[in-house]
Amino acid sequence: VDRTCTSAAEVVIVGGGIGGLANAVALTRAGHRVTVLEQAAQFGEVGAGLQLAPNATRILARWGLLDEVIARGVLPSRLVFRDAIDGTELTHLDLGADFRARYGAPYVVIHRSDLHQILYAACQRAGVDLRTNATVTRIDGGEHSATAVLPERSHEAAVVLAADGLWSQLRRPFSDDKAVCSGFAAYRGAVPIAELTIPREDLAMQDVVVYFGPGCHLVQYPLRGGEMFNQVAVFRSAAYSRGEADWGGPEELDGAFAQCHPKVRAALATLWRDRHWPMFDRLPIEHWVDGRVALTGDAAHPMLQYLAQGACQAIADAANLAGHAAGAEPNWEAALAGYQAERTAVTARVQRSARFWGETWHCDGLARTLRNALFRDREITDYRYVDWLYAQSPSPAPVVPRSVARDPEKEA
Ligand SMILES: Cc1cc2nc3c(=O)[nH]c(=O)nc-3n(C[C@H](O)[C@H](O)[C@H](O)COP(=O)(O)OP(=O)(O)OC[C@H]3O[C@@H](n4cnc5c(N)ncnc54)[C@H](O)[C@@H]3O)c2cc1C
Repeated sequence: VDRTCTSAAEVVIVGGGIGGLANAVALTRAGHRVTVLEQAAQFGEVGAGLQLAPNATRILARWGLLDEVIARGVLPSRLVFRDAIDGTELTHLDLGADFRARYGAPYVVIHRSDLHQILYAACQRAGVDLRTNATVTRIDGGEHSATAVLPERSHEAAVVLAADGLWSQLRRPFSDDKAVCSGFAAYRGAVPIAELTIPREDLAMQDVVVYFGPGCHLVQYPLRGGEMFNQVAVFRSAAYSRGEADWGGPEELDGAFAQCHPKVRAALATLWRDRHWPMFDRLPIEHWVDGRVALTGDAAHPMLQYLAQGACQAIADAANLAGHAAGAEPNWEAALAGYQAERTAVTARVQRSARFWGETWHCDGLARTLRNALFRDREITDYRYVDWLYAQSPSPAPVVPRSVARDPEKEA
């Protein structure tokens, strides 16, 4: 029995989540034959909505996928920050024409399964070899190749990418770190508008709204052209702080939001209350590349979701590596070295900033008063705090916001 497929693929990607598929799209566009190995019986995504900022949508535009993403998602008008206790608006980011011109692409919200399907269909059109029921147990590195090893067979390729997510087993040779539990739990819910019990006048159908509360927050936005409404409620678990193994249950959810505005509390009833997600991240690491093996997506840089950037950064990883490895017979060593040098620096900043941003959202007492005063004082046209993130280019040259100098679309 021939147990080794030296197959046709130059790149084997382990994991068929948004990160793995984004890499498959980018690398086939760069001229490479790609195989994706997914452990699940089917390719797919569970969960609810996903926000895509312009650092990701600029890339999706280049891949020819943005029109479909917009058609299946929503272009929100504003990103609105409110205080969860009194319900008042603190500030907002206008996501309209000026924003799109500044960053060369829009802010889009989409159901994560829709984005996954769009990437999957793009992989199929590009002839990516997409395999399910394929659990990779380890990756063996060679001098000019690497091999993804499964119980029954193995796949050798010029490069193997580990895109196996937050709980990555394939990250182990790079770091013996453990995922860090934040002690926060998330409840999600994406439901058809007709099923919502929240009064219509309390729903912002054009905006992404974030309510900041002490130790908790709520995010709301529409999905699928406004047919669905997406909500995420996140809170710090007192049971976790007490060291209890069973933490984050629905009674804790209600307790965590008890002092919030009635509009915020009304949202809790329409979440999926039978499941919740404990929130984890990891600290940045400096090495994602060893010979012909590299990490990507959450396997490389899992982050807390406060900046809504995990999938965006996975898409940026994909564009960056493919940019370094374009054309037939690329110098893979140089491509992987460039990828590691550029992407580790950027994603480390995003991982650290996400933690800090979460603390800003969840403060109480005097800190809350000061935060609210600062947010209320912000000029609506002040982009200082998002330029570094949304103007990020996946390529070495930074994208300079259009109002400052050049055309970001040409730079990206
Ligand atoms: C509550 C919440 C809200 C979020 N909101 C946003 C947002 O608004 N915007 C944003 O950009 N990001 C957001 N994120 C982050 C985003 O969801 C992730 O960063 C992104 O989905 C990571 O994709 P990935 O492909 O790297 O990993 P995953 O989605 O975890 O995919 C890993 C894949 O690898 C497979 N796999 C694992 N091990 C193996 C193996 N040994 N062999 C073969 N296959 C394997 C798994 O089955 C899975 O399909 C959010 C996250 C959370 C938790």
